[in-house]
Amino acid sequence: MKKKIVVLLVLVLTVLSGCSFGADSHGSQKKESVKKIEQKNQAVKGAKSESLKSPHTVDTKGWISVKKPAHIPILMYHSISKGNSLRVPKEEFRAEMKWLKDNGYYTLSPEEAYAVLTQDKKPRQKTVLITFDDGYSDNYTEAYPILKKYGMKATIFMIGRSIDKKNHLTREQMKEMNRNGISIESHTISHLELNTLTPEQQRHEMSESKALCDKMFGQNTIMLSYPVGRYNDETLRLAKETGYKMAVTTEPGGASRDQGMFALHRIRISPGMSVKGFGAIVDRANG
Ligand SMILES: [Zn+2]
Repeated sequence: MKKKIVVLLVLVLTVLSGCSFGADSHGSQKKESVKKIEQKNQAVKGAKSESLKSPHTVDTKGWISVKKPAHIPILMYHSISKGNSLRVPKEEFRAEMKWLKDNGYYTLSPEEAYAVLTQDKKPRQKTVLITFDDGYSDNYTEAYPILKKYGMKATIFMIGRSIDKKNHLTREQMKEMNRNGISIESHTISHLELNTLTPEQQRHEMSESKALCDKMFGQNTIMLSYPVGRYNDETLRLAKETGYKMAVTTEPGGASRDQGMFALHRIRISPGMSVKGFGAIVDRANG
């Protein structure tokens, strides 16, 4: 009797396991593909974190301590061409970059600038952050070859909506520059004056442009330039909330964290400035 029960049990188990084999082979296929997707996601995540330009990845060991709070000149350019007060001719830009090089200035990435401003340490006594607003095509055709020649880093604040548009940078141009020391950070999506928008609209302008840059360059976009330098208290709050670490205005002078990391000052470089005058302004802002 016992034997019969055992045989029956074995039979039942065999049938059950047979059924479950069928289900299992199906399930394991599913599991397999889920696993593959997971592995793929991991790979994407891995690649992303490798190229993350987070301030935490900046190695400040060996940097020199400076007087608190650290000051840096953040230069503001727009177009490198001729025609109006926002356009700096190529020859002048070249002379200014040469002056920086000849005078021992180290060009910072946004991540390095963040480290300088928050840690009161510098990779070199003289440091500068070169920025361009709006992302004009001439940043690629005129400025980039000069920056590349001198081995200088710079940051372009791109307007999301202007990508691939007339007189503005293309994706390909930005990607090429990005591989060669030029950071692309946010100048919002639509270039509207943020202080005139509702908090919801402001949030949209900031978070969408961050997502765009994050995705396009596989980075953690940390810096924002307010269009036309306009902002209000909501802007300051939302810039932080949407994930940026710092933002620049058009208020004149050297930048330091006592201005607030979301209201950093900049030095507007205008056409017609003498190289000597340029040098004096930069030196003064370096502190
Ligand atoms: Zn602008």
